[in-house]
This record gives sequence, structure tokens and C-alpha cells, in this order.
Amino acid sequence: MRTYVRANALECVPARAGAFFESRMETIQTVARMKQAAREARANERTLGLVPTMGALHEGHLSLVRRAQEQCSAVAVSIFVNPKQFGPGEDFKKYPRALDADRAALEKLGVDYLFAPPPEEIYPSGFRTEVRVEGLSGRLEGRSRPGHFHGVATVVLKLFEIAQPRYAFLGRKDAQQARIIRQMTRDLNLDAEIIVCPIVREPDGLALSSRNVYLAGDDRRAAAALYRSLDAVRRAIESGERGAARLLAVVRRVIEAEPAVALDYAEIVDAETFEPVNGLQETCYALIAARVAGVRLIDNALIEQEGDSLRVTL
Ligand code: AMP
Repeated sequence: MRTYVRANALECVPARAGAFFESRMETIQTVARMKQAAREARANERTLGLVPTMGALHEGHLSLVRRAQEQCSAVAVSIFVNPKQFGPGEDFKKYPRALDADRAALEKLGVDYLFAPPPEEIYPSGFRTEVRVEGLSGRLEGRSRPGHFHGVATVVLKLFEIAQPRYAFLGRKDAQQARIIRQMTRDLNLDAEIIVCPIVREPDGLALSSRNVYLAGDDRRAAAALYRSLDAVRRAIESGERGAARLLAVVRRVIEAEPAVALDYAEIVDAETFEPVNGLQETCYALIAARVAGVRLIDNALIEQEGDSLRVTL
């Protein structure tokens, strides 16, 4: 078996005596070539990790890539702004696209494959199939963005079929999305194991997001209220508060103090069912979605039992 050691940004050095070669990232645009490359990687006994993204990469995405590289001997990153997960009035057309900068960032990290197909490669004319994960997809983000998770599940199943990754790396920032994808892999007996990675934040706590580029000045400053509201929940829990309704009142107080931020929802839900909880007996998420200057932002805190106390991770 060949083991690969990542030597520096642009090289992959096989751990065989004396054999050095430069291995540049391959940018792939066709399904056929991505399938073939993944097959070759598997034939060489490389463990393939996939990081699905919509591009305009930031440190949050790159943290997933680094995590994938720790665990996998070959890493593919997909960049595809998936039209099926945007609603009619949403920002599909103006969603930030930065393929050249993204390619440079991924190459620098030593990623093996960048899969960046054009839309017609993923949805050729006559495409008719949709994947729906019932129940979980209709709440929270799914209620505010009807059809969103059907689009997500459909494209992720396709990406998993194309690349057949052993692992897929997702961010906890999109906790409901990660839960839905994990459910899909379970229900459809997919081999990909879902690894959920921590949220990367700006110094003021705002979760990194490709949409943050839409925000400037006072709006950008106000956006940190989402983080501050979850941090207030953390402090309340650490002071002994266990009632979901009172914790949500804490969230609302912080958000209402920031007139530029319009709350869409704030809920505390069971991490398995995504149904609201009254108390904090099981692992939960405090989830929040809000609009700042028309830009929709989401964030969450993970609440876990730790012995007799609770650990809150932002
Ligand atoms: P997107 O490009 O927005 O579809 O995101 C691609 C992946 O990156 C998803 O699994 C997201 O959850 C993850 N991600 C986005 N923002 C962050 C962040 N701030 N920290 C960690 N992961 C993130």
C-alpha cells in the first residue's frame, strides 16, 4: 500500500524511499472524469474524503479541508452553486463566485481534486429526480426556505454517487443540513461517513459565511448579535438556567437590542429529531436565523451533557 505524506503546498510525496514528484491539484469539470479519478484513488488504496461546498471559500471551508486531509489520503473539494437549493426569490444569481481564488487556496493546501462542474453537467436537460428527507426537511430552515433541503439532498446524493467518498466533511454551522445528510446516508445505505466539524468565527463571533461579503459597516457590526445572543444563552446555562422558553427569551432580548437584525426563528431542538424541547435533557441545538440588511444568516450553539453539567459549544 502506498501512503502519501503531504509535504508542502504543492507537493504530495509518496512515502517510498527516494521517489519525489510534484502533484498539482487536478481541476475536474465532468462527472465522468470525477468518477474515474475517484475510482483510481480507491484502486490505489487511498481513502477519499469529500468536502462539498458552493465556493467563495473562507476559513470555515478551509478548516473542513484541513480536517479531511488529516483523516484521508486523497481529498476532493466540490464547488457547485446548486440552483436547486435556492428558492425563487433567493440570491442564486448574485451568490458570490470566486473560482480562481478558490482554486488557488485549494492548490496551496495541497488538495488532490477540485470538482467544479457546470450546472448542465449535474442537471442535464431532462433531469427529473428529487431526494426528500421527510420530516427533518420541513422545519426551521426548511420552513423558511421551502424545498431548500430537497435541493441539498439531491445534489449531495449525486456528489456522493460520483465521488463515492469514504468520508464527507460538513460544518456544524449548517447543523440541520448535516443532520439531514446523515439521515440520507443512513436511509440509503451510503458508504460515506459524515464528519461534522466546528464553526469557524470572525473575531467578534460572527460565523464565517460566503454571504458575509454582502455586509458592510453598521450592518456587519450588527450581524455579530447572532453570536452574542447564543453566547448569552451559554452564560445563562452556565448560571443554571435549563428552561428552553427562558433561554429563548434571552436570545430575543439580545436580538431586539439590535434594530438592524430581524429574527426569523430561534429554537432549542433535540439534536436527533430537530423537534423543540422544553428542557435540556438530551443533546440539543440552540438555532437562530435572522436577516441583516436583507442578508439571511444562521448560527447555532451545541448543548451537550457532560457528567452533571452542560457543555455549550459555539
Ligand atoms: P457552503 O459553501 O455554504 O455550502 O458550505 C459548505 C460547507 O462549509 C458546509 O458543510 C458548511 O456547513 C461549511 N461551513 C460554512 N461556513 C462554515 C463555518 N463558518 N465554519 C465551519 N464550516 C462552515
